[in-house]
Amino acid sequence: MINNYSVGGEVEAWCTKCKLLLGHTIVALVNNAPEKVKCNTCNGVHKFRAAQAGKPRAKSTAVRKSKAQGIKHNDYLTRLETYDVSKAQLYNMNGNFRKDALIDHTKFGFGIVLSVIQDKKIEILFKDGAKILIQNLDK
Ligand SMILES: [Zn+2]
Repeated sequence: MINNYSVGGEVEAWCTKCKLLLGHTIVALVNNAPEKVKCNTCNGVHKFRAAQAGKPRAKSTAVRKSKAQGIKHNDYLTRLETYDVSKAQLYNMNGNFRKDALIDHTKFGFGIVLSVIQDKKIEILFKDGAKILIQNLDK
């Protein structure tokens, strides 16, 4: 990042009085970085601060992710109810599975084939979401 700071120049800084990120005029520079700034809003002079100190970063992605998985899980259970699990095909990489087939995976449990992506790739809906698995490996 190239900084072109100069005394009297404008810089966006955190105002300790207004408690907002505002335009400030640079009053003093140290090592080409703003040291003291004057708030253009309240005219208060204070040390330069690029952002509010100690502000925690919002983490909403984790919540959104679990919500999406919840929807998929419900979909999985609803779909699984329409199958006779005793007729599930045991999954193995050399098998050949059709769309909508119910398979039994040793690690992931029962899964429903959502789509055949390629001859050797199938998308399967498991309890913990959709996964891409291999089929027809020996063909
Ligand atoms: Zn201010």
